[in-house]
Amino acid sequence: MKLLFLNRQEVRELLPMRACMDVLADAFRAYSNGESVQPLRTMMKVPATEEILASMPGYDGASQSLAVKLITVFHNAAEAGFDSHQGLVALFSAEHGNPLAIMDAIEITAIRTAAASGVATEALANKDATTLAILGAGVQARSHFHAMTEARDIKSVRIWNRSRDRAEALTEELSAKNSADVTVADTAEAAVSGADLICTVTAASEPILKGAWLQPGVHLNAVGSSTPSKRELDTDAVVRSRLFVDSRESAMNEAGDFLIPKSEGAVGDDHIVGEIGEFLSGKVRGRQNRDEITLFKSLGMAVEDVAAAHLIYERAKAEDRGVWTEM
Ligand code: NDP
Repeated sequence: MKLLFLNRQEVRELLPMRACMDVLADAFRAYSNGESVQPLRTMMKVPATEEILASMPGYDGASQSLAVKLITVFHNAAEAGFDSHQGLVALFSAEHGNPLAIMDAIEITAIRTAAASGVATEALANKDATTLAILGAGVQARSHFHAMTEARDIKSVRIWNRSRDRAEALTEELSAKNSADVTVADTAEAAVSGADLICTVTAASEPILKGAWLQPGVHLNAVGSSTPSKRELDTDAVVRSRLFVDSRESAMNEAGDFLIPKSEGAVGDDHIVGEIGEFLSGKVRGRQNRDEITLFKSLGMAVEDVAAAHLIYERAKAEDRGVWTEM
């Protein structure tokens, strides 16, 4: 039995942002229509640390494919030169169960997470959004820049980060390769002031974004927090927003951005308007007027990894990429 091995560079080249957004839109629809299977992820804490090993199995009904992502989240990894999120995706045949491929998960996670925000932005943001604020300057900040420029005609970008030097390095990198005007903001408030789109992509535990700073009509992608006790948005930001999620089940179990305001009694479960897949299937209304503030709370779904892995595998075979090994 032959298995295809695909490294990080190959995954990056085989998963262009637009193609990933297209398969994710299909995966979101299939998930919300009950055609997919995705148990809540298992997150295991490594003893005596805050570091995590997570397992994310799923079946994507749109591509009829089966995979599991195994990923570590080690926020101390940067000191040793590693990414904070590392792992692999194993793709299986949904027909016979045999393993088909093993591929790098750093790049899949970077691209598919931003692509999910890209799909939500195309669905919910005002069409003429041109100004983007990014809070954070890590892996997701970079990939979200690419997804946002795919979703809208972005002319100006302000990046704020806890460590200014990292924001400066990312600004320089993005400015060199893109036409948008990219600058560093001194504060998170300055970054989001007047922004049409905001992406929060930090590992913060406490709010870095306040509702009081939001202008009417802005669309927010809140990506960084994925546990009940951590959040990037304050309660006011959530209360003021029309809230969409990737998965209701995940939001009810994992989204500190929603669960903390809920525990304070500021919002109820009915504050979640719907899943992006429900919007894409025409089951719920999206933006209702220009001034509404829309919020996409992203937790990250296994079916996103499955759909992306399936696309990568098909393209790798067509383009004769990767290394085949005997099991
Ligand atoms: P990186 O490690 O590459 O970057 C982390 C970023 O968070 C840096 O900008 C860092 O700033 C900032 N940060 C860390 N701690 C704090 C803090 N206490 N306050 C403010 N900023 C902070 O991570 P990624 O870009 O890969 O991931 C970003 C976040 O997105 C993580 O929380 C991750 O778990 C989450 N994520 C969500 C996914 C989803 O599907 N929703 C998928 C993948 C990741 P500095 O440079 O100063 O250290």
